[in-house]
Amino acid sequence: MKTALAKQVYDKLLSVYGPQKCFLEHMTPFQLLVATILSAQCTDKRVNMVTRDLFRRWPDAAAFAGCSQDELERAIFTCGFYHAKATHIIAASKAIVEQFHGELPGTMEGLLRLPGVGRKTANVVLGDALGQPGFPVDTHVRRLAQLIGLSDSDVPDVIESDICAVTPPETWAQFSHLLIVHGRTRCPANRPGCPDCELAGLCRHAGSGKAKAAKAKPKARPKTAKASARKNSSAAKKSKSATTAKTARGKRLRPGAAS
Ligand code: SF4
Repeated sequence: MKTALAKQVYDKLLSVYGPQKCFLEHMTPFQLLVATILSAQCTDKRVNMVTRDLFRRWPDAAAFAGCSQDELERAIFTCGFYHAKATHIIAASKAIVEQFHGELPGTMEGLLRLPGVGRKTANVVLGDALGQPGFPVDTHVRRLAQLIGLSDSDVPDVIESDICAVTPPETWAQFSHLLIVHGRTRCPANRPGCPDCELAGLCRHAGSGKAKAAKAKPKARPKTAKASARKNSSAAKKSKSATTAKTARGKRLRPGAAS
């Protein structure tokens, strides 16, 4: 049943958006590895702006392995988490040079041996740069897999295996891209566009339940000026009557006070 659902979702998204390419610019698998490390908690647009200069200056693993941490941190500063990202990029580059003779390992197991490289990064590199099956699970893929009903898990590794179990390996990378583009354009977190959604007939949360509630739920309820004024006025009244009572008590108790 999930096999049929996955195929319908894949076919529909492919017909809507067309074939998608990797969103991160790169010339080599190694450069995609670096770009993917930089993309954590950062937009692809920002990463692409940074890597254009970065890869001119340090084009390969040998160059990154020999660069200074300070210089690299300055170069990637705008991507955020620059210290951890620079540390991972240099450590992974050194491992590639020292353990893999300067060549990026071409398997999931090999990639996972590199510092700072998890399954998501490894799947991006496998699927988009090495021509191997790879299904990266990012925040959009995770949300959509749950909403549509392709997985009931919240754990990226489990979602990956749930979807990979019901889809052909040659579609994994493309399916991940399609879910990402749909998540960005039609079904962003907290404001899914259910009424216009192309997956409305397939998604178990189409216009109801979680999706509807998420759409209606504001992030934080802003206080209106009127509500604040009411609150201040009531607080002022309370404070005034407390002061009056205190003064009255003081007047009663103070020796020699005028009545
Ligand atoms: S129907 Fe709504 S919840 Fe489902 S994928 Fe479309 S926008 Fe998202």
